[in-house]
Formats: sequence, structure tokens, C-alpha cells
Amino acid sequence: MSNDHSNIERTDLSLSGMSCTTCASTIADSLEDVDGVQDASVNFATERADVSHDSDVPVEELIEAVEAAGYGVRDELLNDEMEGEEELQEMRRMAIRAWIVTSPIVLLMVFMWTPLEVLTGFQIDVAMFVFATIVVFYYGRTTHASAIRGIQNGTFNMDSLISIGTLVAWVTGVMVFVTPIENYAGVGAMIMASHNVGTYLEHRAKGRASSAIEGLMSMQAETAAVQRDGEEIELPIEDVEIGDVMVVRPGEKVPLDGTVIEGRSSVDESMVTGESDPATKEEGDEVIGATVNQSGMIKVRAEKVGDDTFLSQVVELVEEAQGTKVPIQAFTDRVTNYFVPTVLILAALSFVLWFLFPDGMGAVAGIGAPYLPWVDLALDPLTLGIFAAVAVLVISCPCALGLATPTALMAGTGKAAENGILFRDGEAIQTMKDLDVVVLDKTGTITEGNHSVTDVVVGDHPSVSADGGHLEDPGLTEREVVRLAASAERGSEHPIGQAIIEYAEDQEIELAEPAAFDNVAGKGIQAEIDGRSVYVGNTKFFDEVGIPLAYEDELQALEQEGKTTVLVGIEDENVGVISTADTIKEESHDAIQALHDRGLETWMITGDNERTARAIAETVDIDPSRVMAGVLPQDKIDKVSELQEEGYNVAMVGDGINDAPALKQANIGVAIGTGTDIAIQSSDVSLVRGSLDALVDSFTLSERIFSKIKQNLFWAFIYNAVAIPIAFFGLLHPVIAVAAMITSSISVITNSTRLGNIEL
Ligand code: ADP
Ligand code: MG
Repeated sequence: MSNDHSNIERTDLSLSGMSCTTCASTIADSLEDVDGVQDASVNFATERADVSHDSDVPVEELIEAVEAAGYGVRDELLNDEMEGEEELQEMRRMAIRAWIVTSPIVLLMVFMWTPLEVLTGFQIDVAMFVFATIVVFYYGRTTHASAIRGIQNGTFNMDSLISIGTLVAWVTGVMVFVTPIENYAGVGAMIMASHNVGTYLEHRAKGRASSAIEGLMSMQAETAAVQRDGEEIELPIEDVEIGDVMVVRPGEKVPLDGTVIEGRSSVDESMVTGESDPATKEEGDEVIGATVNQSGMIKVRAEKVGDDTFLSQVVELVEEAQGTKVPIQAFTDRVTNYFVPTVLILAALSFVLWFLFPDGMGAVAGIGAPYLPWVDLALDPLTLGIFAAVAVLVISCPCALGLATPTALMAGTGKAAENGILFRDGEAIQTMKDLDVVVLDKTGTITEGNHSVTDVVVGDHPSVSADGGHLEDPGLTEREVVRLAASAERGSEHPIGQAIIEYAEDQEIELAEPAAFDNVAGKGIQAEIDGRSVYVGNTKFFDEVGIPLAYEDELQALEQEGKTTVLVGIEDENVGVISTADTIKEESHDAIQALHDRGLETWMITGDNERTARAIAETVDIDPSRVMAGVLPQDKIDKVSELQEEGYNVAMVGDGINDAPALKQANIGVAIGTGTDIAIQSSDVSLVRGSLDALVDSFTLSERIFSKIKQNLFWAFIYNAVAIPIAFFGLLHPVIAVAAMITSSISVITNSTRLGNIEL
């Protein structure tokens, strides 16, 4: 294996031929054995392999590894979906035909049991042999092939169980000609035919569970009206290039991500954000591909194409999440690996015990026998042993177990994505339910993050001299203070700075060019304007620089109203205060209430001052004693660790960019209101919609997904745990066993699919 990690590539393969979760681990092992492959994860439910490998490993080698393990790789170029559909149709045909050939067997069984002597016993056995052989061998060929592949790889899969079970049953149909024994060849055929039906239904249902993601992809527009050389032409979206101007009329979908360059309209973004109110878009606003333009005509400059579009990114992220494991699953994986060998031993043991100690086994079976018409303890021990062994083999399929987690994850993450909630992996979903504390960033999370100037306090203020006497203070005019502050802020990207600049522009104040600009994160800025040092920042900043505060009463009054204040200083004098306010998001209060109702403790963290932070905390019902104010960006991570050291499981919710380290430190990092890569990279949950009710929804969803997984696992386990002993003592008819096995798998899948119906 190469140590050069700089050239790692990921390849995604679409697989065919997997019959159970054990096949998935066989393929993963085989891929990981390839030189240069770092990691391979194979998802049984999505039938995909995600391989990380050095870039010089040719794809052919990966395909060979899959084929060597006995499975196939679908050609993506040949259209994965169509091939999958064909496979499904083939399975359907196999199931129907197998049953057509099995139906005379059912008739023969009726003859065997009725006193009507239509056929002689010998004729029945011959006919049974012919039909059963066709079904078990011809219609069971894929099952046996898969079992043989498994054995070649040293693993057993569910097909091994069905294969061995049906073969043993079939053998009785041969033995009847030489020794007196019950003929179970027909039962073998029925098991095989039912198994084919089961495989078909399972594949069909798996397809449904993943349909949410197909739904996302199908939302994309197919063509775009593009202006080229002054003419408008209709192009397939694959042919649109970055920079093309797309004309989007009312009722049409925005073809690709871009910026509005002309026009104004309301756009329904619910398909990507889950937000039902349409957003107003005008010149300069960004629009997302696949959203629906409602009222006006807009022209949009295309900025993202192909795999870079927001929708493609979402689909990719969801697909990745669906391929990950949920920690609770680790246990099931261990179980399934030992399951099949254990079952083989149990089946053999049951046969041997029935054969050697028919009286003892019969005594146990006698408890249930009178109630079960298919149990006949008067039969010979060999027959009883075979009956029990076949039932054990058939009932033990761990398939429902293997489907429990991935199907719930698929249906759940798909549903979440439709609502603008992106879970990074299965672990995040499980961790969400253990959270105690939610730390909310103030600016941009609880509030809109759009500051605007509310008050400017200047001059006319009695400065106090060192000896207590009053100095005559002419004071600077408001315009001059705003001009200096705004000019200094030209070097800053902070929302407060932007607000001050905007305010100055509104007042038509001409700004100067700042020199020697310096930014102290979380505190303020300093710049040279017209040869004078200008400072804009908080009290901490002024204390550090050594400028005495001159407006403490005003500061206090403004902050108590929840306004953010900054001081303006020139040289060594505090010449004014500018306050800004940031609107609290409409949904913040109710969403925080909903978090409390869930038993979560909420905290607010901010770089803003204590008084302002508390005033805002009070408005949204966060306990003022749980406000962490004046926290520098780089210290947010420590605050999160402190809470963790107190034993809390902490979620940190922030806008993702400067909060990234804290998001990583938290047990769950939630990036809100952003679809940017950095935010998604450092967070466990991304909320596309910028409002806190999406956070509440993410709690609801993760809880529902996780409880669905637990439900599925419980039913899959309990069913095996109860049914195996029953089969062991010869009380379970193998045909009932196969029907029960199919029901179990299908019910797990449909149970998962119901996640799609959650109302949020
Ligand atoms: P938040 O948690 O609100 O994002 P920041 O860490 O970005 O806070 O900033 C904290 C405080 O530092 C602000 O409330 C403000 O007082 C001061 N500050 C930071 N940058 C600037 C700036 N460019 N101009 C004025 N004040 C600033
Ligand atoms: Mg911030």
C-alpha cells in the first residue's frame, strides 16, 4: 500500500448479485485486498461500493476484485437504473415460473394426503421428483450459484441456508425409491419458489426505500432557455456553461444554481429547503437549481453546473450518509457473521438428535404437536430429523436483520433531505438522541445576522478630566463620527462594520480610504484615517488599547434594549457610540421552546457583550444564566469542551464558517442556513433552511429514524429467537418457515418506508 495520501481518489461502483449482508462484507474484503485500496465500504441496501484508493489504481482492478469475489459490477454508462429494472423483471419471471411448475406439486401433495387413490404412491413420487427437480435446480440456479460462491470465499450467506435446505428436502424425493421415508421434495420446491418471490419482493421494496433520493434528482429541470449571441436557445442542462444567462419564466424551474442579474420574482424553494414560504429574489440574489420561479421573469447567470450544483451535492451527501453505519448496527454485523455457521450446526444437531434420541425430542415436540396439524410424531426418526433440520435452515435467514438498519437510514435520510436537513452519517442520527445541551450561536443563528445601525451617540458630552473638573468638549458631529468609523470599517467584513458602512452610504457621507488597517478578531478594528488613528470596537478592545470610556450610561441603556454597541475612538479619546440591532428570527422563540419541551437545555454563545446577549436571551426564553458572552471566536471551542467536561453531550449550532472548530468539538455540530462545503464538512447535521425550527425537525427525524431502526432490529431478532427453537423440535413446517422469513424481510422494509410519511 502506498503511503502517498495526497492522491486518494474515491470510486463508486454499482454492484449486482448480492443476496445478503454477508455478501457485502465479502466484496468489501476483496476490494480492500487490492494494492493501493485504503478503504472500501459496501452497502447491501443501496447495492453500491464506495472505494477510497490511490489514484493510480485502475478501475478495472476494482471491478476484477468484485468479480473475483463472485459478484458483478453494473456498467453505469449503460444506465444503472434500466439495468436494475431489468434485473427486477428477471427476478419476477423466475418467481412466477417457479410457482407455475410448483403448482402441480401442490396438487400432488393433496393427493398424498387424501384417501382418493387417483395415482399410485409410486406415480406420485415420480411426478414429484420431476417437478421438484426442475424447480429446485433450474429455478434455484442463482441461489445455488450464490451459495457456491460463498463457500468458495469461505463465507456462508443466506443463500447457503436456502440452498442446503432445499437440497436436503429434494434428496428425500430420491430416497423414497429405496427406503420408506416421507417425500419432502415438493416442500423443497415450495421453499425455492417462495424464496424467489421473496428475493423479488425484497429487491422491489429496497428500490422503494431509496426512491426519496431519486425523487430529489428528478426535480432537476431538463432544459434551460439560454441567451447566446443575442438569441434565446433551448439547451439540455448538461450543455449549459458557467456564465451563460438563463431566462426563467413564471412557473418554470430554475435550471441551475446562479445569480439573478435581471428581474424580480418570488421563488418556491421548498424542494431544497423545506421552507414553504416563497423567497423574493431580485438582482444580486442567489437562486438554486430545481426551485420553482413563481411570479416574474428573471434572468439568471449560471454559476454551478454538473456535479457542483447544490442539488447534486445534496444527493451525493445523502448517498454517502446512506452508505455509512449506525453504531447500533455493529452488533448485528457481528451476529450475522456467526449466524449462518451457527445455524448450520444447529440444523445438523437437530437432525442427529432426532435420529439418535427420537423419544426425548418427541417428548418435547409432544407439547405443541396436538395443536399443529402438520406435525406427525408417528413418522420415522429419519423423516422427523430431516423435517426439523430443513425448517431450522429455512427459518434462520438473517436477512431481515441485515435490512433493518440500511433501509431505515435510506428512507429517513431521504425524507430529511427533502426537508433541507442533511445528516452526515448514521452515527450522527444515533448521537442526536443522547444530547443534553444545545449551544446556540447568537448572531446568524438566533438572529438574522443582518445588523443595521439604530443609534449614534456623539459629542455634547461632559468628559471628565483627571482632577474631576469639567472640560469644555466641543464634540464631533454625528456625521464626522460616522464618516470616520465607516471609513475604518471598509477593511472589515464583519456584519457590524457592514452596517455602519451602509448607514454612512444612506446618509450620503463620503468615505475616506483607510490605511494601516488592523483587525482584532472578536474585539474590533483600528485604522488610519486622514492621518489619525481611529478605533471601532467593544469595551474590551478599548480597555486593551487604553482609551477611557466616556459613554457608560448610554452604553448600558442601549445594551439593555438588546442592541449591540461599538465604541468609536480617535487617538486616545472615546468620541462616540454606535449601536446596531439585529432582528431576532421569527421562529427562534418557539423553536427554543420546542427544544426545552424535549428536555434539552439551551445555551447562548456570542462574542457580543453580556448585557446585549442577556437581553436577547430573555426575548427567546433562554435562561440568562446560560449566556456565554464576550467569547472570542477561538474560545468558543473551549466553552463547548467545558460543558462536555461537566458530563453533558453537547450540540453546537452555528453558521459554520468561523464556528467550524466549535462545531467539530461538539458531540453534534449543526451548521445552519448554509449549503457551503466548509460548513457541511465540519458539521454532523446541515440545515439548509436558516431557521431554528429546522433544528427541531432534525431532532424529530433522528429520533424517528433511530427508533425505527431499533424496532426493525427487535422484530428481526425476536422472530429468529422464537422460531429457531420451534423449528429445532420439529414443530415448524418448512413452507411456513419460508413464508415467515419473507414476511419478516418485507415488513422490515415497509416499516422503514413509512418514515417517508412523517409529518414535520
Ligand atoms: P459574534 O458572536 O456576534 O459573531 P464576533 O466574535 O464576531 O461576535 O464579534 C464580537 C464583538 O467584537 C462584536 O460584538 C463587536 O463588539 C466586536 N467587533 C468585532 N469585529 C468588529 C468590527 N469590525 N467593528 C466593530 N466591532 C467589532
Ligand atoms: Mg459570529
